[in-house]
Amino acid sequence: MIDPWASSSLDYDKLINKFGIKKFSDILGKINDPMLLMKRGVIFGHRDFDKIIPYVNQEKQKDFAVVSGMMPSGKMHIGHKMVVDQLKWYQEKGGNLSLPIADMESYGARGMGFEEAKEIAINEYLANYIALGLDLTKDNVLVYLQSQHTLLKDLAFELSKKTNFNEMKSIYGFTPSTSISHLYVPLVQVADILLPQIAEYGGPKNVVVPVGADQDPHIKLTRDLSDKFKSQFGFIPPSSTYHRFLTGITGGKMSSSKPKTAIFLNDTPEEAEKKVKTAKTGGRESLEEQKKLGGCPDHCVIYELLVYHLIDSDEELKKIYNDCKSGTLLCGECKAKTAELMKKFYEDLADKKEESLEIAKTLL
Ligand code: SF4
Repeated sequence: MIDPWASSSLDYDKLINKFGIKKFSDILGKINDPMLLMKRGVIFGHRDFDKIIPYVNQEKQKDFAVVSGMMPSGKMHIGHKMVVDQLKWYQEKGGNLSLPIADMESYGARGMGFEEAKEIAINEYLANYIALGLDLTKDNVLVYLQSQHTLLKDLAFELSKKTNFNEMKSIYGFTPSTSISHLYVPLVQVADILLPQIAEYGGPKNVVVPVGADQDPHIKLTRDLSDKFKSQFGFIPPSSTYHRFLTGITGGKMSSSKPKTAIFLNDTPEEAEKKVKTAKTGGRESLEEQKKLGGCPDHCVIYELLVYHLIDSDEELKKIYNDCKSGTLLCGECKAKTAELMKKFYEDLADKKEESLEIAKTLL
């Protein structure tokens, strides 16, 4: 069982072999202009993404939608940028964006009040989404708070008719002591994903949900329920993609709930730079050993930051990889360069923050 509320580490190969997620690399060649995270294997898996390809290739002009929820429970970190990068790519490809703010989830699963959730959503999430380059003011972008969307809540209630406690227990591990609001949260999320297909939003259409692999239980439940309600709503089962997690600077998963692991988007450029300098590398015990044997970029947080976020050029990245493996590039130099790139990235982000926050305040 995958628990979407736990921060367990995941075995990506097992997800592909055991849980029926397909390898993204098998369909990559069919996408005309794949985004960086796809080409670099950060997006490693999918369900039914074949159906989305004609839209992103712009061979089909009909509407498609992209759903990406944000749970306002804490601070955004650099790993969350991956989601925004994907949304930007879909926005360029003409997708309608539907961005629910999961305040019912933060209330039901984490006990956070609705007002606090709204504040965090504006100041932390929406402001950063905009500063990172996503245009949330376009007509085909829908941003909403779950608790304030009547159609969503009606849909969640209708969907609840065809699921039961045993099913939820087998998917999420719920127990008799789980609160009813927590139990209900997944149904609201299912409704979030299916909302773009109801008549008020133009009826059935293809939808893609880009998520971390821990969110697959919600996708599976949504696909099951879309089948159960097909005759009533004409739902098309949503497609999904799965991305790897960014490793934290101490080596485990980067997590907002473990501040020592994370570079937060609201850190100052200097703080971000300093954190990069403390990150775990794939370097050897001694300089001599590294010169002789080379480093291990495949197990290096610094290299991961370059791959996921800081270097666009594949050539440049390949050179760093090869120089590391051959022992000609050493960790001190590599870290200093990465810290500098990160500082620059944070300086650019800081320049956009004030204006982004003003826009964010107008969205809810
Ligand atoms: Fe990582 Fe760079 Fe050291 Fe290689 S040289 S292990 S990529 S920090």
